[in-house]
Amino acid sequence: MVKELNFKQELVGCFGFPVAENPTQAMIEPAFNALNLDWRYLTLEVSPENLKRAVKGARAFGFKGFNCTIPHKIEVIQYLDSLGESAELMGAVNCVVNKNGKLIGENTDGKGFVSSLKQITDPSEKSCVIFGAGGAARAISVEMAIAGCSTITIVNRSTKRGEQLVQLLNTKVKDSIKSTFHAEFVHWEQCYQIPSSAEVVINATSIGLFPDISARLNIELETLKPDMVIADVIPNPPKTQLVNDATERGCKVIDGLEMLVAQGVIGIEYWTGQSPDPSIMRKGLEDVFGSS
Ligand code: NDP
Repeated sequence: MVKELNFKQELVGCFGFPVAENPTQAMIEPAFNALNLDWRYLTLEVSPENLKRAVKGARAFGFKGFNCTIPHKIEVIQYLDSLGESAELMGAVNCVVNKNGKLIGENTDGKGFVSSLKQITDPSEKSCVIFGAGGAARAISVEMAIAGCSTITIVNRSTKRGEQLVQLLNTKVKDSIKSTFHAEFVHWEQCYQIPSSAEVVINATSIGLFPDISARLNIELETLKPDMVIADVIPNPPKTQLVNDATERGCKVIDGLEMLVAQGVIGIEYWTGQSPDPSIMRKGLEDVFGSS
């Protein structure tokens, strides 16, 4: 029997500016190959003034969806047809899904974090400390609240961003969930003592990101306890000072690659309806970043 020829590949991708160093393609395309999907993930440089046209182009080319990264996560919303629940709460989109011609904005950053955490512990009723109040902290804190954690302490250098995030959590987010929940803000101006009641501690700042790899969070290291889960969002390098310090003290540790892979898994599930193999995706990233 003659095999039917098909040279038309399905398209997804990433819109960012600048975007050349974004490694997502290196984890998504191996996952497509392993699933036997003839799909491509394109790394596309889209300047802010071209975002509207790029979204129109994605519709015209029949993209199955696309990721959005800096600086498009908020601006893209006006060009979409609707938003998923957590993207609506956060006011930011990192993953667009084409559902029967309608572009739906989702946010997989926080969902990826919660999915990695669930491999270790149930987030429900947990007491959580999050360093940072930017996009990653916002995504993680909203999803942690939705996942049922009981308290979130946002520790941030600038008061304004920290207080704004805590206000969002204690109003819009709290109103949308059934469980008891409370968020509070701590201004991070001196060495922070992690309270012994904290069960999940997350670095959602950019401290430790390449090239500043020796940077440490200003925390009292003795307050890291073995019964805490310590997570770091930094994917490059995955073994940050925090990851090393927490590992040395016997804590359970989630590194930034796990979260990156987990959010990629969710994106592929949204786009294709199939579940990829996370180990293939992590290998793709380790080949880029190195695992040390
Ligand atoms: P933003 O720029 O939105 O926020 C950065 C945060 O880090 C702010 O809270 C900022 O505090 C804080 N910060 C930066 N430098 C310092 C410092 N020297 N001391 C204290 N606080 C500091 O960035 P994002 O939230 O978008 O991204 C943060 C990190 O998360 C990035 O490194 C990114 O690579 C990573 N990330 C990882 C993902 C993954 O899947 N692993 C997904 C998304 C992001 P202030 O408000 O005071 O400026």
